[in-house]
Amino acid sequence: MEELIKPYPAAIRLKIYEISHQAVNEKRLRRIFPPKPVSAGIILSYRCTGECRHCMYACSPKWSGDWISENDLYRILSQLSDKILPSPLGRDRVGINYGLHFTGGEPFLNFDLLVKGVEMAKDLGIPSIFVETNSFWCVDDESTRRRLETLRHAGLDGILVSVNPFSSSTSHSRG
Ligand code: SF4
Repeated sequence: MEELIKPYPAAIRLKIYEISHQAVNEKRLRRIFPPKPVSAGIILSYRCTGECRHCMYACSPKWSGDWISENDLYRILSQLSDKILPSPLGRDRVGINYGLHFTGGEPFLNFDLLVKGVEMAKDLGIPSIFVETNSFWCVDDESTRRRLETLRHAGLDGILVSVNPFSSSTSHSRG
């Protein structure tokens, strides 16, 4: 009995503390419920015509053209297809925090892949599909309209042209 009421040696106390501390952490971990995704952005490549100093992904023309493969694109879109929520304005309308967007880098540098991705997303029933671009490809009315019509036909619902307060210091590097 005397043995039982003796205080534990420091090393054992430390061990017990570690174990109970770990148990508390595990309990906390079990209580974390990350929210379900409601929107998604797919980076097709880090390659871009611009080289903006504020770019959060450090995109630039220096990146090699390591575009996502069509197989990977389809696999990811399939996994997202039942999770993405439409814009509150409707499935064929866009909202920044809803739906699916294709981005980069500059998605229009690989227009065929962009069109393919939009077709896949549409076939999978993903709502509110849009693309982010710095619009380097808008060089004349005719080719701009042709590309927009192709994307619209593939199922694109909207387009987001990136404009920011830093544009004046970086516009020289945009295509
Ligand atoms: S245009 Fe956009 S993606 Fe390209 S470098 Fe600038 S911020 Fe990054």
